[in-house]
Amino acid sequence: MGDVILVTGGTGLVGKGIQYVIETEPEGSRFGKKPGEKWIFASSSEADLRDAAQTKKLFEKYKPTHVIHLAAIVGGLFANMRAKSTFLRDNLLINDNVLHTSYETNVKKVISCLSTCVYPDKVTYPLDETKIHLGPPHESNFGYAHAKRLVDVQNHAYKEQYGCNFTSAIPTNVFGPYDNYDLEDAHVIPALIHKCYLAKKNNRPFIVGGSGKPLRQFIYSRDLAKQFIWMLREYNDVEPVILSVGENEEVTIKEVADAIVKAVGFQGEYKFDPSRPDGQFRKPASNEKLLKLMGGFQFTPFEKALDESVKWFLDNYNTARV
Ligand code: NDP
Repeated sequence: MGDVILVTGGTGLVGKGIQYVIETEPEGSRFGKKPGEKWIFASSSEADLRDAAQTKKLFEKYKPTHVIHLAAIVGGLFANMRAKSTFLRDNLLINDNVLHTSYETNVKKVISCLSTCVYPDKVTYPLDETKIHLGPPHESNFGYAHAKRLVDVQNHAYKEQYGCNFTSAIPTNVFGPYDNYDLEDAHVIPALIHKCYLAKKNNRPFIVGGSGKPLRQFIYSRDLAKQFIWMLREYNDVEPVILSVGENEEVTIKEVADAIVKAVGFQGEYKFDPSRPDGQFRKPASNEKLLKLMGGFQFTPFEKALDESVKWFLDNYNTARV
């Protein structure tokens, strides 16, 4: 019997990226499907992972040998601030159910997903894999951050007590097809794509909040997918790995907005609103460990990745999360 890889949260932005890579890379290649392998991309409608019985049923149905655990309650700044207890409890329940059921059913490897937003608020940059627990997270997302940090604690505990091969990945800001484009709750790239699309459609100015100067690292979901697949196949340590473009590949919000204007084909008035907050100027994360272990990685150029994401949004406006 071949390996069965269960991807929880398989219908979200990151899960769809993994599905795309598995289905399009040549079979047997480094990131392609291996002969005999079966991939399951689970949604919340198949099993609500906050519920232990539903989680067990999902594992009984597919009998996974490996789990890529992406399922999470994810939200923007305001959702996080409004519902700290929900973000904490729901994510704690999901993570506990997935990890404990994986242990009980002898899953060979679990890779769970953390995020660079779970790092301490006061920390020295660049972020690296050793700094997750060095101080409290930003108070705006402490529910989500503490739940995610505990995954790393659980991974160590399960390894020490039972010898489980559990680990975690830490992506920076992800974007790509199947993103959440909801104007209230989306991350910066999908939010700006949606705003720019509406500005073009309604013949209105495209206004970008803030000065446009802050720098961020963005990773294309299809590149991130390859790095998850690499971890699944080749990485066997409990310590997390940051999955990201390099610190020298940060882009400004203005560069993001310029590329969106070009990709959407927007020709109207386009300006920044410096009265809106900028957030932190930069919060670089190091991908040194990743590149060293992978032996280099060919990232998709930012503009190409953005073009593909905008094209997906325009082609799928009626079914996208908007
Ligand atoms: P999405 O919001 O796009 O997808 C979330 C996924 O989780 C969906 O498949 C959803 O299923 C599933 N899910 C949510 N609640 C439950 C539940 N109760 N039971 C079962 N499944 C559930 O998220 P992303 O793809 O963006 O994020 C994936 C992972 O990556 C998360 O762990 C997130 O914390 C992490 N991450 C994301 C970043 C980003 O920039 N997007 C950055 C860093 C980390 P359904 O759609 O069926 O409800």
